[in-house]
Amino acid sequence: MNVANNAVVLIHYTLKSDTGEVLDSSDGREPLAYLHGRGNLIRGLESELNGKKTGDALKVRIAPSEAYGELDPALVQDVPRTSFSGIDTIEVGMRLQTPTAQGPRVAVVIEVSANTIRLDANHPLAGQHLNFAAEIMDVRAATMEELSHGHVHGPGGHHH
Ligand code: ZN
Repeated sequence: MNVANNAVVLIHYTLKSDTGEVLDSSDGREPLAYLHGRGNLIRGLESELNGKKTGDALKVRIAPSEAYGELDPALVQDVPRTSFSGIDTIEVGMRLQTPTAQGPRVAVVIEVSANTIRLDANHPLAGQHLNFAAEIMDVRAATMEELSHGHVHGPGGHHH
């Protein structure tokens, strides 16, 4: 069976940045199981996997627009220190919930000054090219329940 919409696909993968840093990997774990064509993977990787079959391996470099998007300068905001009065110590690298035009998001503290905190609510991988090495371990038909939930159950998938 080939990878197609509504197939359950099991892959082993390693994700690296352009500098060669391993950002994520299924090494030493169950392969990742996902329901194809439902936006459970980044768009660029799904389209590369489309039509492939068990045993196929691929190496792809995916542009930000097909992954986590470009960096959005509007998501870097200076927020008054008083907005976080319940938090005693705020340090660079902390993750805080902050309101944005798209609703509340988790943002990383990138600068702390006396009266303001600079927060970056971009996805940590926004603006980055993603280098995937992936191997397809299995492709199977989805169950009715998986199709209605929009995700995979069992090993490598959701458990509930
Ligand atoms: Zn479910």
